[in-house]
Amino acid sequence: PDEVIYCIGCGAQLQSQDPNQPGYLPQSALEGRSEDDLYCKRCFRLRHYNELADVQVTSDDFLNMLGEISQEEALVVNVVDILDVNGSFVPGIGRLTGNNPLIIVGNKFDLLPKSLKRGKLRQWLEEVSYDMGVKPLAVDLISAVRQGSVAHLLDLINEYRGDRDVYIVGTTNVGKSTLINQIINLASQEEDVVTTSYFPGTTLGKIEIPLDDGHKLVDTPGIFRPGQVVHQLNPQEVKTVIPRKELKPRTYQLNPGQSLFIGGLGRFDYVQGPGKASIVVYAAPSLSIHRTKREKADDLYQSQLGKDLTPPFDSKDKKTLTKRTFKVDQASDLVYSGLGWVKINASGVEVEGHIIQGADIFIRKPMI
Ligand code: GDP
Repeated sequence: PDEVIYCIGCGAQLQSQDPNQPGYLPQSALEGRSEDDLYCKRCFRLRHYNELADVQVTSDDFLNMLGEISQEEALVVNVVDILDVNGSFVPGIGRLTGNNPLIIVGNKFDLLPKSLKRGKLRQWLEEVSYDMGVKPLAVDLISAVRQGSVAHLLDLINEYRGDRDVYIVGTTNVGKSTLINQIINLASQEEDVVTTSYFPGTTLGKIEIPLDDGHKLVDTPGIFRPGQVVHQLNPQEVKTVIPRKELKPRTYQLNPGQSLFIGGLGRFDYVQGPGKASIVVYAAPSLSIHRTKREKADDLYQSQLGKDLTPPFDSKDKKTLTKRTFKVDQASDLVYSGLGWVKINASGVEVEGHIIQGADIFIRKPMI
């Protein structure tokens, strides 16, 4: 019981406390088994069902691991959520990948309006990457749920990796497991074998997929960013906030002194400006948008939270909102990190954004 046992698949120390951490195996599976043939649940599922569950590590572990990658000859692939690019970038990715080449992959492209031009969006993502201090070798847009899209990404990876191993990195919820599962599916169609192998010197639960030239593709654990809105929501609320279908823009003509509630989790105030402004909300269709006079907004929030303004679905689950004021001089997005964004088609206006405490709210160049 006090003895330390390692998973023979990934090398993580086996533990029965936390299913989301590397090396998890239920206590029942540990008992009475020889210690030299134990796989953690994640490796077990991978071997038997070609199915991968993501695990999380702390920032420190993750930063150490990225430090290791910078010492190797590697191609680094950072997967981000195209609906929450800033919130899902791996912090310090540029510094930590060292001189290794980097590909930025914007996932969940299928959730953006179909009318959006792919080339323009790719360029936008490249500019955002520059703003984050990285110069990616390539930028790709994918839908991890679609096999063809992932096959295209694999071609791109093969084109750029040269004589290197490939490391896939990303924060939690960007769709990294979905992507890896899809890669495994594609790989096993040809080879019918997916092996996991121990990665020496770490206990981080990395999964390795062999590539045909002796190199490998390494899936790293998802990094947990506590500021992400979803970590402050219960499962029903998460379901409402995360879009499952294409986002449909919702447009409002607002006058100064009018407000929009984004469910009961965010609020947009048009404080002052020269006149009517066109405001477009991009958020999950299941998030209700409610328009009101700014002077009545606080009262409405008090009386309608959990009723007209959902989520939360119960006023007991009220979150603390914080607000920030912005002066907007050209068409811009006001990003409610993890919830969506509001495009402001106006200039010379003052707006105020409210969002769950701890979550980012900021202005960016319009995405659409
Ligand atoms: P991970 O934490 O990065 O491993 O993320 P998951 O693979 O568990 O995905 C997080 C959520 O995003 C899940 O609900 C997935 O179904 C969803 N998801 C992942 N990829 C896509 C995609 O390409 N399109 C859409 N619409 N949803 C996706």
